[in-house]
Amino acid sequence: MLSCVSDNPQLRPAVDALPAYVPGARAGATSFKLSSNENPYPVHPAVLAAIVDAAQDTNRYPDMHASELCEAIAGMIGVRAEEVVAGNGSVAVLAHVLGAFVDAGDEVVLPWRSFEAYPIAIQVAGGTGVRVPLAAGGRLDLPAMAAAVTERTKVVLVCTPNNPTGPAVHADELDAFLAAVPRHVVVVLDEAYVEFVRDPEAPDGVEVYAAHPNVVLLRTLSKAYGLAGLRVGYAVARPRLAAGIRAVATPFGVSHVAQRAAIAAIGVQDRLLEIVDELVDERTRLVDLLTAQGWDLPETQANFVWLPLGEQTVARAAEAASAGVVVRPFAGEGIRVSVGEPEATDLFCEIAAGWREGV
Ligand SMILES: *Cc1c(COP(=O)(O)O)cnc(C)c1O
Repeated sequence: MLSCVSDNPQLRPAVDALPAYVPGARAGATSFKLSSNENPYPVHPAVLAAIVDAAQDTNRYPDMHASELCEAIAGMIGVRAEEVVAGNGSVAVLAHVLGAFVDAGDEVVLPWRSFEAYPIAIQVAGGTGVRVPLAAGGRLDLPAMAAAVTERTKVVLVCTPNNPTGPAVHADELDAFLAAVPRHVVVVLDEAYVEFVRDPEAPDGVEVYAAHPNVVLLRTLSKAYGLAGLRVGYAVARPRLAAGIRAVATPFGVSHVAQRAAIAAIGVQDRLLEIVDELVDERTRLVDLLTAQGWDLPETQANFVWLPLGEQTVARAAEAASAGVVVRPFAGEGIRVSVGEPEATDLFCEIAAGWREGV
């Protein structure tokens, strides 16, 4: 008889201890959903047509590695298709990246507060997350992140712009960081919001990638390209590393419908990037209105703003929801408000003005 601790199957301790990923609350019929950084514009007709057309092939498996999509992405950003790995949202691609580089007990350095999927993905991969607090203004503290790298570090996650606070890293600080980090450590640049960045000091991720063989880019079609519901993200890495990430990935991870929709979206990217310009204008309007009310906001380069509300966070989020705007609370820290329809901006600013009374 084998001796056993329990009669029941035991989850891995790492899995038992996982923090929950809290999705943005779903909005009711009468409210605006500003809780998930989604694109509020309707799906482009060409994308919709591709979805309908692709649905006819649902009885067939998709192209396993989404080759045509990877070629379209490669052409769009100026790399080779063998450097692109597509996946079921960039959250899944991140899990594959960690799966390819992290062994049990290896360290992954991450900024914190940052994207809540990071600690979960690291823990599932068997890694140890090393959290480096943000600097003033909700900015990544890249010198402190470089200093947190040890012999056990395999990956560093650089979220730029940082979700949920908003600032993008600057090219000069990223250069200094990459010069300080050993070249065998993988640096993931998570650029989920890159299309929204207007900061002239922000780096060009593809150029940084081209200059540094240990940099892996992570991007998504969920935000700017409006495909959050179909789940398409990708990594860009040197061919040898990309092959390893691809080997770890879920077979047939991107559905045929998602592949065709993503290719169609890239085909109409001029229009989609015009929509991003409109959202950036709306972001400016939202920030200006809030600033005029007296809010001191971190500088946002993404499609959301961060209000550091501290202990008031949960109550304020509930008030906003009952007034018709669903936002994303991070208990004890602040709320993240996505840039949505102009009507949503107006309504949220009305609510936020009420919070300033008596300040
Ligand atoms: C939204 C987001 C992603 C992308 O998510 P998908 O899985 O591609 O929808 C990745 N990283 C960050 C920081 C994000 O905010």
